[in-house]
Amino acid sequence: MPTDFATLPADRLRAIDKVSAGVERQPVPAAGLYIVSTPIGNLRDMSLRAIDTLQGVDGILAEDTRVTSVLLRHFGIRTPLVAYHDHNGARLRPNLLARLQAGAKLALVSDAGTPLISDPGYKLVSEARAAGINVVAVPGASAVLAALAVAGLPTDRFCFCGFLPNKPGPRRAELATVAKVPATLVFYESPRRVAEALADMLAIFGPRPASVARELTKHYETVRAGTLAELAAQFGEEEAPRGEIVIVVGPPGAEATALDASKLDEAIKAAMTAHSMKDAAEIVSAATGLPRRQIYARALELGRDTP
Ligand code: SAM
Repeated sequence: MPTDFATLPADRLRAIDKVSAGVERQPVPAAGLYIVSTPIGNLRDMSLRAIDTLQGVDGILAEDTRVTSVLLRHFGIRTPLVAYHDHNGARLRPNLLARLQAGAKLALVSDAGTPLISDPGYKLVSEARAAGINVVAVPGASAVLAALAVAGLPTDRFCFCGFLPNKPGPRRAELATVAKVPATLVFYESPRRVAEALADMLAIFGPRPASVARELTKHYETVRAGTLAELAAQFGEEEAPRGEIVIVVGPPGAEATALDASKLDEAIKAAMTAHSMKDAAEIVSAATGLPRRQIYARALELGRDTP
């Protein structure tokens, strides 16, 4: 799918250019392998350090040279490009590692976002590390973090689950393996399968709160939130959406909060009339199966609200 590079209003762009013009370009410091994040849609998310690095290295390893050449052209970068992907990686690695050991500076990029995150590069980084080569991250955009940041779900602990299998049987089996993980779950999904995936998530996880983020940072960016029951019903009735999708699902236990927050509050208040806040949190946690930490945090809020 072609990347949709949305633009900001002209006055905002001029303000950013003014700031970036004042920042001195940094040369790439040392020989090594640079893992460089690139925008997931909006070109203005390219970092100054990413530009410096791609300009300063001897060569750029790109998942798809046609996609990356558009990015390089936009920023006036003329560094030579080499295709590096799952199909030629094993063949290219010995030569790339030899070049790096001889003192070359190489950068790895994917089509969009952070390399290695559901993208090629893991074996290269792993072998480079084992060979004692300097491996440096040049961080930036990634759809996992962008989706998590706007989902409105707990972010203190999250589990990135990548893409689910396409077929229903293996997909449900995979979902079952993460059903009890005590963390918010993040999935990449094809727009063609989002309705099926949400229906399977509802069947395996129950009606947990969730969010579906589409086309983040792009012109048609949308984020829909609701329980898995609501989202599965909505997406089940509509035509398949267009664009790129991330599904974020709240942790186990969150379905009780989503479904019946007022009842939970009543239980906490009732327990606090006869017990200390700490003991009340223990009791309600045991009764509901919700994490003690979560109940204690809510008890604190309720305690503050009570005159
Ligand atoms: N390495 C990339 C990253 O750091 O996000 C991910 C690459 S993976 C092959 C592509 C998937 O990431 C898409 O199918 C979608 O699930 C998600 N994705 C990438 N860009 C996105 C965007 N702008 N909005 C929503 N999801 C996005």
